Formats: sequence, C-alpha cells, structure tokens
Amino acid sequence: MYLKSLYPPVPPTPQKNVHEFIFSSPTKDLPNHVAHLDVVTGRKRTRREVEEYVRDAATALGSPVLQGGMGLSGEAGDIVGICSGNCMNYVTLLQACLVITTPFAPISSYSTHMELVHALRLTGITRVFVQPSILPRMLAATKEVGIPQDHVYILEGQGVDGRKSLDDIVEDARAKRIPRLPVRPATHDTLAYLIFSSGTTGLPKAVMISHGNIYFTLLAGQIFTPPVPPVVLAVLPFHHTYGLQMFAIRCVIDQTTLAIVPKWDAKIVLSAIPKYKVNVFLLVPSMLHQLVTSGLLDKADLSSVWSVATGAAYLPPKVEEKFMSMVKQIPRVSQGYGLSECTLSGLRKPVPGCLGGRQPARGSAGILLPGMEARLLREDGTDVGFNEPGEVWLKGGNIALGYFKNEKATKETFIDGWLRTGDRFQVDEQENFYFIDRIKDILKVGGVQVSPTEIEEVLRMHPDKLLADVCVAGVSGGRTSDELVPRAWFVLSEEGKRFGVEKTVRELEEWTHKNLSKYKWLRGGVEVVDSIPKSPTGKVLRRKLQDKFEAELAAR
Ligand code: AMP
Repeated sequence: MYLKSLYPPVPPTPQKNVHEFIFSSPTKDLPNHVAHLDVVTGRKRTRREVEEYVRDAATALGSPVLQGGMGLSGEAGDIVGICSGNCMNYVTLLQACLVITTPFAPISSYSTHMELVHALRLTGITRVFVQPSILPRMLAATKEVGIPQDHVYILEGQGVDGRKSLDDIVEDARAKRIPRLPVRPATHDTLAYLIFSSGTTGLPKAVMISHGNIYFTLLAGQIFTPPVPPVVLAVLPFHHTYGLQMFAIRCVIDQTTLAIVPKWDAKIVLSAIPKYKVNVFLLVPSMLHQLVTSGLLDKADLSSVWSVATGAAYLPPKVEEKFMSMVKQIPRVSQGYGLSECTLSGLRKPVPGCLGGRQPARGSAGILLPGMEARLLREDGTDVGFNEPGEVWLKGGNIALGYFKNEKATKETFIDGWLRTGDRFQVDEQENFYFIDRIKDILKVGGVQVSPTEIEEVLRMHPDKLLADVCVAGVSGGRTSDELVPRAWFVLSEEGKRFGVEKTVRELEEWTHKNLSKYKWLRGGVEVVDSIPKSPTGKVLRRKLQDKFEAELAAR
C-alpha cells in the first residue's frame, strides 16, 4: 500500500542554517516574555536573554582561540556532548551549537560508565558538558577514551573544583568582548546533531539529523498544529528525540514559556502545573499510566491544562480513557508516532480545526504528517491492503541522513530515500494508522528504547565467561498493558556450571545492574536453559522463547 499525506505539502526547506528560522518567529517582538523557567530553582530567562545567551555561547564556543574563543567547528570534526537532566542551558547550548554548525550529541544522564564509554567512542565527542552529579562518571569515561580532562565542563550554574561551567565561559567571552560570531551557513544536509537509537536491531547507533531535517519538522508542524500555547511543561528528557524536538527546538519558535523539570517526578510535576498555570502537558504512556494509578491525580489541580499528548510508545486506550474520566476538561489525549530516525514524528492524530474538522480515530496513532509518504509491506515485500498489518516505511524531508560512521546499518535501514521503521501498523480506509507490533528487536520501556542485543552483549562481556550462550527478549510485565520488559535465557558455560546456577544468575544480574541503565535491567526475569533455539542458518529464534514463556505465564 502506498499513501501520501492528506495535508497540504510542506514548502521546500531553504538551504540555510535552521537557527535563522528558529529565532525569526514573532516572539522577537516579545523580548521580555519569560521563555525559560526552572521549576526547581525558580530561575528564569526572558526571550531576549535566551537569544543573547545563545549568540554569546556560540561566540565563546566558535570564535578562534586567538580571539579568546574555543575555536570549535563541525568542519574540524568537533562534536559537543551534553549529558544532563533538563535545564535551561541544555536548550541554549544546543541552540548555540546550531549557530556554529558544530554537531551536538545528547547522552542519557542515566548512563552507566560502560554506556558513556560506548557513546563517547561511537560519536567521537570532543567536548562535553555535564550536570555536576555526572562529573565523576564522565571524567572516568573520558579518561578511558582519551578525551582531555579539561574538555569536560559543567553545563549550568557554577564551575566545580576549578572546572568551568557554560555560564563561566559565556561570562568570560562577554568580559573579553570577543566580536560576535556570525551565524555559520548551512545547507539541508549539514549535520545538526547525533542521537542514539538501536534502529531495528543491534547496539545503539548515532542517528545523523541535519539542519534540513529540523527545518522540515518545524514547517510540517506548523501546518499541522497551531503555535504551541503559552506554558508548556518540559518534563520529557531533552536527550530523547521527543523532548529534544518539542521543547528544546519547537517551543523556541513559538510564544512559549518552557517550565523545565529536570527529570520525571509525579509529585513535582503535579505541583508545578497549578503553580505555573501549565497549559500543555506532553508525556509518554507509562507516565500517564503512573499518574492514573498513583492516587495523586484525585487531589491534583490540572484546571489550567487544555492539551495533553503522548508519544514514543503505544498508548493503550484504557489508560487514555481512565485519564479523561479523572481530568474532565481534557476531551482527548493526543497521540503521535515517530522515531529518532525521522527527527520527531511520522504520524499524529489530527488536531481540532485541521482537515475540515476531521475527528481523530480511537486507538489510532494518527495520520501521515504533512509532506510525508508511507508504504505498508508484508514480510515478502508485497503491498498490504487496507486493514491488513504491514511494516511501515516512511519518506519525507525529516528522514535522517543515516547512521554516523555505520554504512552497513545505514544501507539496511535507509533504502532509496525510504526509512524502514520495523513497526507494523494497519491502516483503515480513512488513512488512520493503528499500531500492531514491532517486528524489530527493540523494546520500549517507559518510552525509551531497549535493545536485547545490547543486553546480550553486556552479559557476554562478564570477565568470568559464565555463559556459553544467551538470548534476551521482551515479555509481558511492563507498566502499561502493551509494555514488554527484558527477560534473559542463559546457557551456562563450564565455568558457570562450576560456579553454580544460583550464584551465576545473581552475579550476572548484578553485572547488568552495574553496567546498564535501570530501564534495561532484566525485569522480566532470568531462566537457565540447555540451549537457545536457532534456525538452520543460526538465527536466534527469540519468538519461540517468548511464546513459551507467555504460555507458561497464562497457565499460572
Ligand atoms: P525512538 O527512536 O526512541 O523514539 O523509538 C522509536 C520507536 O518507538 C518506534 O519505532 C516505535 O516502535 C515506538 N513508538 C513511537 N511512537 C509510538 C506509538 N505512538 N505507538 C507505538 N509505538 C511507538
């Protein structure tokens, strides 16, 4: 099946630095409008202060060393890592990187030492900004990969132990009166940032998003949705594509106050909403699920909120209905579907007033975004019909340039301008897309990707070589009804057998806790088996183990 968006087309994206567009919006006329406020510290920045800060940070980072700057440039191979919870300087730093066309790479602030080392090696980050609590971990990781220790900085606030913060760097540049650096030219394909995704299989890779990809996403968003309203709660992590694009980029062009929450905490979120009169609340389904089951919602004042949306994972209709029954003024929870490889989204539920008042279909993730095309294919590559499941392939100006320094994975995923999503949907005659399942090896836990291959790899890296073989796959047990959690099947090696079953299982669980972020832990349990089922060509038959486990679970 081939489909083209029902919306008007997206205007051609200019061959320009996307900074020019992000900061050209009518908010220019509202210099004293509060653009950023930190709900924990209460710090604020006006629109003018944000704009000035971005340009001064760009000057400090990009000006030649002889003029007192750091001399960073994308052409010279510089890449700026950011590893922090949400804060105001997260936004200003990444915006400054756009000005100087020096790619940035957001890294999850939950990363373990092993994950940090992988992220640094994969991207070749040359400078990195962190929140103070991450500093010791980042120093150990940068040391291991050979990044000079004085290339690690504090992202916001004061420096630590003589180490400068971005605020110090900007202040220095202002004091030295370094001439303001002009916005560097960019084309559609100029690399803007690298973001981590495992794609359809394997270890995390760095997706290359260009200035043109961001341009297209903003232009398409403007056709689709009216300007984002006054106060938006920025609680989704900026290191994930959803939080990054919506808050740190899209909200900058609209007349928006970003109420920034460092990380998800239901109590802080529910008290910030009435305090700052938040109008828009964007979440992932597991957060919504936590709210409706927490008992906190009954006493919460959400009267200022008039738009709630989820994305990054399937939203079970039951969770949506429960939320709407508890928060009466919300007529529906909007939903979107997307992936890091298409910058933000490919599908969104139609918003009121769009497409002649078309109503969103219940249970659907939405319709194709403006300017996008889709194909739905069976496993053998033939087209499916309406109401028949097929893998979605997407095409549009938001499709990433590919995976950074990984030609093989790029060729497998980005084919003749199409992006293979690894997600199965079916489409009705009105072109509403309904999520069926993932044919790729990736799980989503709390809206974040978990790659079974990555967990297997870490288990195999245990120095005592306790396993002869291992398989990890998703099983029921997640927070929302569709959410799977990782479970491992171990085949013990001779060393493992000598060590003993119980001790091996405990040792390997501790090993994963030490080396993997919490959301990747084996919450689905561990089982010791004699062998891992494989096809005649040696392919691991994950499905067989999953089905057996689910049947046992159902029989309990
Ligand atoms: P990420 O790159 O981390 O955003 O992960 C992208 C993946 O999240 C997609 O390929 C889907 O598997 C999943 N995803 C995103 N949005 C939805 C949705 N609305 N329904 C179901 N799965 C989703």
